[in-house]
Amino acid sequence: MEEPSRLVNVNRMDEDDEERSLRPARLDEFIGQSKIVENLRVFIASAHMRKQPLDHVLLAGPPGLGKTTLAFIIAHELGVNLRATSAPVIDKAGDLASILTGLEANDVLFIDEIHRLSPAIEEILYPAMEDRCIDVMIGQGVGAKTIKINLAPFTLVGATTRTGLLTSALRDRFGIPLRLNYYEDADLTRIASRTARILNCAIENDAAGELAHRSRRTPRVVNRLLKRVADFSIVEKKSRIDLEMTRYALARLEIDELGLDEMDRRILATIIQKYDGGPVGLKTIAVSVGEETDTLEDFYEPFLVQSGLLNRTPRGRVATRHAYEHMKIPYTRKLDEEVQAGLFEADQE
Ligand code: ADP
Repeated sequence: MEEPSRLVNVNRMDEDDEERSLRPARLDEFIGQSKIVENLRVFIASAHMRKQPLDHVLLAGPPGLGKTTLAFIIAHELGVNLRATSAPVIDKAGDLASILTGLEANDVLFIDEIHRLSPAIEEILYPAMEDRCIDVMIGQGVGAKTIKINLAPFTLVGATTRTGLLTSALRDRFGIPLRLNYYEDADLTRIASRTARILNCAIENDAAGELAHRSRRTPRVVNRLLKRVADFSIVEKKSRIDLEMTRYALARLEIDELGLDEMDRRILATIIQKYDGGPVGLKTIAVSVGEETDTLEDFYEPFLVQSGLLNRTPRGRVATRHAYEHMKIPYTRKLDEEVQAGLFEADQE
């Protein structure tokens, strides 16, 4: 899948050392998501006390919310090694078999984008998760035979942006399913201030708050915007990032007051102007704006829906009244049109 190249891109780009240094290493340093953090604390303590591996954990939620960070934290808190991989690079059964047989007792295996595992690879994972063994095929043709290999006890931590694409067989094998939510402004403000401290740049509280407010409720975005605003601040020879500098830089970066960028606005404008506000299918929108359907569904749509700008209906996507207002386009729909468009049948995910 093509990843969008944009400033508020919530994907992990090639992760550099700096990005890694921003990752909280312990549960205490992980800001927000308090229910998840507190529950994890209990499950980890219990695993310690039982001297057994933590049950398998599924982390679900939009990109950039801290799934990978939590996987690393879980391993750190358990005091075990973490082996990280991602589903698209596990091509062959042998790839997964060699990862699994290489694990030491109670290690954490992190599989990112776990919804993208092929069915054949998933088949290997089932007995590994449940019975700690795998069946490996030796030889070919008539002489081929399968042997059972026992594995060390381990914890699988899977991350997914799309729970809906997971087979129920796989989903059901995770004893600890956790769904990460978008962050509150107050938590993002703390994340911005923490990142600024690590990067050695001073930021005023209201400036951190403004960044938080325009960061798609996503830690990765707040960190990335902070770095770019810091660039403007450095070039303007400011000793600290203040509110005025933040607003100036965000305007230069074309991030609007809701945190939408040029592609978000293009998506809304397309639905409103070309398709009369919708309903219109995601594939049609993707072609119109020149973006991949998967990318729209994974990265752009969830935040637009969260912000109340877009509705998902059984007949397609519909721009809300709020979207018209935000785009400064007069809202001309009548109420019965709204009903017909399925606005009130919006599927609740
Ligand atoms: P995901 O795996 O969900 O795409 P990551 O774990 O890679 O997200 O998080 C993206 C970045 O955001 C990380 O580099 C980390 O620095 C930061 N981050 C995520 N969650 C938090 C948090 N709760 N507190 C502080 N920083 C966070």
